[in-house]
Amino acid sequence: MVGFIRPISALSMTPATAAESDSIDKLAAAVSSAAAPLKLLVAEDNPVFQMLLRGILAHWGYELIIVQDGSEAWKILDGPDPPRLALLDWMMPGLDGVEICRRLRATPREPYTYVVLLTARTEPHDLIEGMDAGADDYLTKPLKSHELRVRLRAGRRIIELQEQLLHAREALREQATHDGLTGLLNRASILEILENELARSRREARSLALLMLDLDHFKEVNDTRGHQSGDAVLREAAQRMKSSIRRYDSLGRYGGEEFLFVLPGCALGEATCEAERVRTALGTAPFQVPGGQVRVTCSIGLASCGPHDPQDSGALLRRADSALYVAKNSGRNRLAWDCADSAVAIACPT
Ligand SMILES: [Mg+2]
Repeated sequence: MVGFIRPISALSMTPATAAESDSIDKLAAAVSSAAAPLKLLVAEDNPVFQMLLRGILAHWGYELIIVQDGSEAWKILDGPDPPRLALLDWMMPGLDGVEICRRLRATPREPYTYVVLLTARTEPHDLIEGMDAGADDYLTKPLKSHELRVRLRAGRRIIELQEQLLHAREALREQATHDGLTGLLNRASILEILENELARSRREARSLALLMLDLDHFKEVNDTRGHQSGDAVLREAAQRMKSSIRRYDSLGRYGGEEFLFVLPGCALGEATCEAERVRTALGTAPFQVPGGQVRVTCSIGLASCGPHDPQDSGALLRRADSALYVAKNSGRNRLAWDCADSAVAIACPT
């Protein structure tokens, strides 16, 4: 244990015995050495106690933010990128530690902030009040340094567990919404985006365009070069398509070698330019596949709706589909679009 915590008063820390120190040091070693410094907010209005905490917590490897009153502490906890671990004095100017806990827990927050309350109160009903307000743990003054170390360690473990849970949930969400092979949105997700964007277009009286793209003769790639080559083509095609669209467009895998593009705010003219850009990106350079190269082209069906002719997703999909059919039947490697007013699909020669 560090020497500077030896002086003892009602506010200072009680040092651990040699045996306690040894076991606590072993227990906590993994925390302070292996892991990255953890941001820890300390809110304590007593300058002596604050100084003692600063020394010992910095020595344990925490990245400290130290404030002297509750209002300042709340500003930090309620601000961007708040500390995940907080040591709050109960009695402070501004807001007290319990009120900060209440505010923190009033709305669900992610990531979670683990709070340890410091208090001179030892009555059971006081401690229950603190925990009811949303504190995760408490320590009574005078503090024992080894207790503080162990409680913070427990807090850190909870934080790490929550991080693992958040990562697992994010991975599951990614899995549920994305296509495993191409990394693009899957069918359900791109259709959901189409619904949402259509609703937004109606609300904001904006145009929207939908592209349905199909890789030409893709079956031949699979049949003559094998499925590994087919997969390589799909992955590469996804990359090329992704880099040809605008930041606010959405792209998803609709079926085997069919893809959907949702282009919000795009009228027919802009949408044809974008579709041509995608078609060129796929057709210009050959694709690298195991054992050689293969040329791939695509056919695209386009349907758009203007600000004053809102459509439902089913109708727009049918129109894009029939335009794609025209593009295919007109010789492939081309774009065809369906004009809402005339309902006639026009093939665009390449
Ligand atoms: Mg105080």
